[in-house]
Amino acid sequence: MKLLLVEDSQRLRDTLARGLRAAGFTVDVAADGVEANGFLAGFDYDFVLLDLGLPRMDGLSVLRAMPAGGARPRVLVLSARDQVNDRVEALNAGADDYLVKPFAFEEVLARLHALARRPAETRADVLEHAGIKLDARAHEASFNGQRLNLTPREFALLELLLRHRGRVFARAAILERIAGSESDASDRSIEVLVFGLRRKLSEAGCEDVVENRRGAGYLIR
Ligand code: CA
Repeated sequence: MKLLLVEDSQRLRDTLARGLRAAGFTVDVAADGVEANGFLAGFDYDFVLLDLGLPRMDGLSVLRAMPAGGARPRVLVLSARDQVNDRVEALNAGADDYLVKPFAFEEVLARLHALARRPAETRADVLEHAGIKLDARAHEASFNGQRLNLTPREFALLELLLRHRGRVFARAAILERIAGSESDASDRSIEVLVFGLRRKLSEAGCEDVVENRRGAGYLIR
């Protein structure tokens, strides 16, 4: 597994790089955002460990400059910024997970291994998971063969979460992806939307598939 470590503190960078190499990762190191950008443009990585507070170009800008989809590496943000807003901002910018400093090295390893286990995003027309079947072309969803009568937005939400299983979507990200330019849409309307989808799933006998990560957003594992 190839990993790019982006951290401006030399001490932390050296410690992490040593530990990660000992754990079997191939590690490149970058000390600032511009350097990180250069590595990302030139090489393919499985993972990026990314500090947010960086000289020359901050971590969020590095994240936003990364191409979406395709062979994009999985990004674990390591940051001293511990506010919900910081986490949400990083996740919305494309981070896959977020770890607040100070952290134990074992936790970095555990998070990386968890990210490695996540299924890749899929472009399939038919998505199936835990008895749910969603046919994106026919615009039909069912649970154990029983049709779910979803509104277009509930359907879009279910499709989004199924296509990116294991990824947490903040309300703002859901809003951006599925509510589009509708003027009435708000964080609150996303809560109502999630509630409606969960209720319909639950009525069909499908419980607890849409999870709520407090302060971060929603996901289907
Ligand atoms: Ca820093």
